Amino acid sequence: MPKLTDQTDEEILSLLETGQIKQYTLDRELEPLRAVQIRQQFLLSDYPDHIIDTIPYKHYSNYETATKSCCENVIGYVPVPLGLAGPLLINGSEYNVPIATTEGALVASLSRGCRAVRESGGIDSTQTYFGMTRAPLIKFSCGRAAKQAADWILEPGNFEKIRAQFESTSRFAKLKSINPKQAGKLLFLRVVAATGDAMGMNMISKGCEKMLQFLQTVDVFENMTVLSISGNYCVDKKPSAMNWINNRGYSISCDVTLKCDVIKSVLKTSAGALAELNSSKNHVGSSLAGCIGGNNAHASNIVAGIYLATGQDIAQAGTSSMAMVNMECLDRGDLYVSVTMPCIEVGTVGGGTSLAAQQNNLQLLTSAPDVNINAALLAQVVCGAVLAGEISLLSALCSGDLVKSHMQLNRAER
Ligand code: ADP
Repeated sequence: MPKLTDQTDEEILSLLETGQIKQYTLDRELEPLRAVQIRQQFLLSDYPDHIIDTIPYKHYSNYETATKSCCENVIGYVPVPLGLAGPLLINGSEYNVPIATTEGALVASLSRGCRAVRESGGIDSTQTYFGMTRAPLIKFSCGRAAKQAADWILEPGNFEKIRAQFESTSRFAKLKSINPKQAGKLLFLRVVAATGDAMGMNMISKGCEKMLQFLQTVDVFENMTVLSISGNYCVDKKPSAMNWINNRGYSISCDVTLKCDVIKSVLKTSAGALAELNSSKNHVGSSLAGCIGGNNAHASNIVAGIYLATGQDIAQAGTSSMAMVNMECLDRGDLYVSVTMPCIEVGTVGGGTSLAAQQNNLQLLTSAPDVNINAALLAQVVCGAVLAGEISLLSALCSGDLVKSHMQLNRAER
């Protein structure tokens, strides 16, 4: 068959239609935009023009990267509005917060929260933990054999042997611990590692694979079967008490003391009203609903907006959004507010962060272009922005403004 580059679009379409080539051949052999164009014609030819015309595919500078590492069968891209909230003052530095969203009022509300934080002196933020996790699942002939294997793992000298193997797979992967959990003859090994500025799922999976190869050479593991590199005890992309209690990714604590006059002038409410609503809604209401990690009003709005804008794995937005909001009335009408988030799964290298717009949004975060936004800093911005988003939404609820502003900003006349 002649090279695809020497053939016309019609000839290539006919090869696709007759099954002589696969869709992925387009990406391998053609220049990226032409591959996307031909795929659109191949897959969408039965749809009316007005539908196809609304799926943009031109003027995208990243097909090369996108088709190699982010998406297959690419037919274009989906434009999502991008807003900039802030500046958000955390630990003495200001950050612009890029939010990709289709929820009207969100960016405006977040900006109001940022203003209240700024005028109260800013957020104090601390990182309390980092460890990405993966939990391979292995099977033995019986429970006793699984227990012997778990005991072997927990011997300190053996951990060091595993560490050497694990860390040989990447200069950034640093093994922190392995927590075995047994269920009969099944053994789940929750592996915890630092992964530099990568969110770390690929990196840690590579390390786990090497670990399993090594374990197969050890007596007590000789008869194990590896059922899966992930046994759901990680826990990745599923709601869980595990990550709420034991952390995953970055665990961040942010707090601020909102000044009485700022609560009145910017947030149009009072410390007492905010504290009462936080307790009744975010604690009592969420408990009655059986939420795990749901002691907040809308953390996932902020997390999803930042994740989309900065190329994070958007499938982790739900689990990363677990957050506890606490409020305490202080003297003179001030209000102490804290947000604790134990499971912020972010990176500034790898995955979607390698796409130009997403990488540039990471740069936009800081108003000082020479400051490097690394993953730890991004996690702090996520948590700080959640705090700002919480105080603004809860204030709108206190003052009865929520429906009014949503009707104004979501239902604007077209
Ligand atoms: P993930 O592990 O988050 O799924 P990747 O598989 O893309 O993401 O891994 C990150 C890649 O980026 C690795 O190849 C790693 O060597 C490289 N890298 C470059 N700089 C860094 C850094 N500062 N921290 C972590 N990884 C880095």
